[in-house]
Amino acid sequence: MAAIRPHVRADRFLVNEIFYSVQGEGASIGLPAIFLRLQVCNLTCQWCDTRYTWDPLHPDYSHYQSVGLEELLPRLTGYPCRRLIITGGEPLLHTAAIEKLLEQLGNEWVVEIETNGTLPGSALIRERCQLNISPKLPSARNRAKTIKPAVLNLLTNSRDPWFKFVVSGREDYAAMVNIIEQCHLPKERIIVMPEGQDAGTLAEHALEIVELVKESGYRLLPRLHVMLYGNRRGV
Ligand code: SF4
Repeated sequence: MAAIRPHVRADRFLVNEIFYSVQGEGASIGLPAIFLRLQVCNLTCQWCDTRYTWDPLHPDYSHYQSVGLEELLPRLTGYPCRRLIITGGEPLLHTAAIEKLLEQLGNEWVVEIETNGTLPGSALIRERCQLNISPKLPSARNRAKTIKPAVLNLLTNSRDPWFKFVVSGREDYAAMVNIIEQCHLPKERIIVMPEGQDAGTLAEHALEIVELVKESGYRLLPRLHVMLYGNRRGV
């Protein structure tokens, strides 16, 4: 089923949720951060743990708000933290609105964007933000094309790119290596993470790939939020 997209506007955000937690994945894992989760995605990953942002069949699908910048800013600045993680869904579908937000946030703000690597964002976003790029592998079972070499090349040349691969097993791992080599992704910025929505499955999938990671020089990291909270939302 194709994802249905509500109208995305340049001057408003389709906010699914805002919460304060710690970064659960990637290069800044464990750091306190404010999460701004936006609605809508251009992919339909089988194991997606945020289906409520794009799947109209999900019971919580319609629980989002259209929020203007003047309302959003005080909600973000009210937290005792200056690290913002914009996630989704696919946040780069909201590039114009994110640019306006970046113009309002001071330099003390560190802004990370979680993206699936199929959209280029904009020059401002690529220069200002830490991009956590997560290209999707075969186990995600998307019908749409998930690997776009020209887009990955643009994102690789951004200020602070990290590539996070969610790996379910050896087939995914082989596909990941292929993408890294064909798209010339920087080896020192590759983070491999086991797929799973509970701690037991994470450990099982990590054990399937740990020996391969040891041979590769990539980095294997857990998914801290899944270990702490399973698939609970807003934590
Ligand atoms: S790209 Fe991310 S948000 Fe979109 S369907 Fe896949 S896992 Fe879910």
